[in-house]
Amino acid sequence: MRYLSTRGNPDRKRFCEILLEGLAPDGGLYLPEAYPQVSDVTLLQWRTVYHQQGYAALAFEILSLYIDDIPAADLRALCAKTYTAEVFGTGEIVPLRHLEDGVWIEALSNGPTLAFKDMAMQLLGNLFEYELGRRGEELNILGATSGDTGSAAEYAMRGKKGVRVFMTSPHGRMSPFQQAQMFSLQDANIHNIAINGVFDDCQDIVKAVSNDLAFKRKYKIGTVNSINWARLLAQVVYYFAGYIQATTSNDQKVSFAVPSGNFGNVCAGHVARQMGLPIDKLVVATNENDVLDEFFRTGVYRVRGTADTHETSSPSMDISKASNFERFVFDLLGRDGARVKGLFGEGLSKTGQFDLSADPAFAQAATRYGFVSGKSTHAHRLKTIQDTWSRHGMVIDTHTADGLKVALEQRTAGVPMVVLETALPIKFAATIVEALGREPERPAKFEGIEALPKRVKVMDADVAAIQALIAAECGY
Ligand SMILES: *Cc1c(COP(=O)(O)O)cnc(C)c1O
Repeated sequence: MRYLSTRGNPDRKRFCEILLEGLAPDGGLYLPEAYPQVSDVTLLQWRTVYHQQGYAALAFEILSLYIDDIPAADLRALCAKTYTAEVFGTGEIVPLRHLEDGVWIEALSNGPTLAFKDMAMQLLGNLFEYELGRRGEELNILGATSGDTGSAAEYAMRGKKGVRVFMTSPHGRMSPFQQAQMFSLQDANIHNIAINGVFDDCQDIVKAVSNDLAFKRKYKIGTVNSINWARLLAQVVYYFAGYIQATTSNDQKVSFAVPSGNFGNVCAGHVARQMGLPIDKLVVATNENDVLDEFFRTGVYRVRGTADTHETSSPSMDISKASNFERFVFDLLGRDGARVKGLFGEGLSKTGQFDLSADPAFAQAATRYGFVSGKSTHAHRLKTIQDTWSRHGMVIDTHTADGLKVALEQRTAGVPMVVLETALPIKFAATIVEALGREPERPAKFEGIEALPKRVKVMDADVAAIQALIAAECGY
């Protein structure tokens, strides 16, 4: 399997080459040259694999179609080490819970940080350690977070050989639970940096350091953001696992509803569908930040400015542009790299938008690729959380509530609808209290974490000072 860039660069790369890279050199995103096709017979075998050997074995079957530069035995061991009941709380890893007639919730949030990002990040940590060890190299991950991504990255990389994490976050702006989750880590390779500023200041630091090419090369600066192909690939597995649990035979179709921000999660669903998994609809659910809903309704993709980006009660979906969206548009436009380069490169940077409404390809987003969309606001979120509690006795988090709200609008009779649960309610307790007047349940291992000793440096938004800190930790 070789990988290409969405912007038409003729280079072809192998999995382990792109594993540690972010964007392709031409600014595009990596995708496989072709999606491996899963036959009916194979899907039948995978059913047995999942039921008899479990999620890790299924992950190996899928990943091995895309990764041919890690020996099979090693890849199998990496999957087995990643997807354990110990790390993910249950032997099923992603159990399906029945909600009501034809509607299911797929639990993706029982990993170490209680959000679905653990599903991919835990594998990434093990892949990084493996590949860096093989090369005898080190990597310094520099990131900016306002919550879920940073903690998932830290819990995935903690204690990993060859990896250090420098995670910036806006000082005092994350929830007490999120701060406690990150800052209580005592591992020597994890560095929390609270910046006197807002999230954009943190992102600017990451950009400035990454643009200092001499520094970047010397200190092997890398990222773990959601455009990493390995993260997307890891997510493909739970679409198969969800399908297998929701059906008894392969002639049934299933729809998935996905609370979306950067389009990483639902893009994995697109890949699964392109591989031949019988998915009916891919339901994209957004919050008030409705860049994606607008595109699927109108064909216009319009990036928002900072002033137009709302702070909502499903904050992990508060995005101004959807960084993985380019992958889908590449497929939608018949893999025309030159055209994608025009739209996402020069086009977006000049006008901040493009319009595909008049292009015959746009209609295919729904007809050929199964995409539909909808939007959910704070009031919908509260109501969905209340209804789900009063009718089913289940407390769901705010992001999952956005997914469920749109799922119920897009249901088709006879087709199971699987809503992806992207976080546990305890992470967003304030809104749960607002909706239900009660605190969400807290998993036992998080009892009292706010009182644990914290390991965090408070710094000004000063690029040189951050660089000095990284250099001092590396000692070269
Ligand atoms: C990251 C995140 C999302 C959005 O996922 P994308 O892959 O960016 O679309 C939704 N919900 C939660 C809880 C998240 O952490």
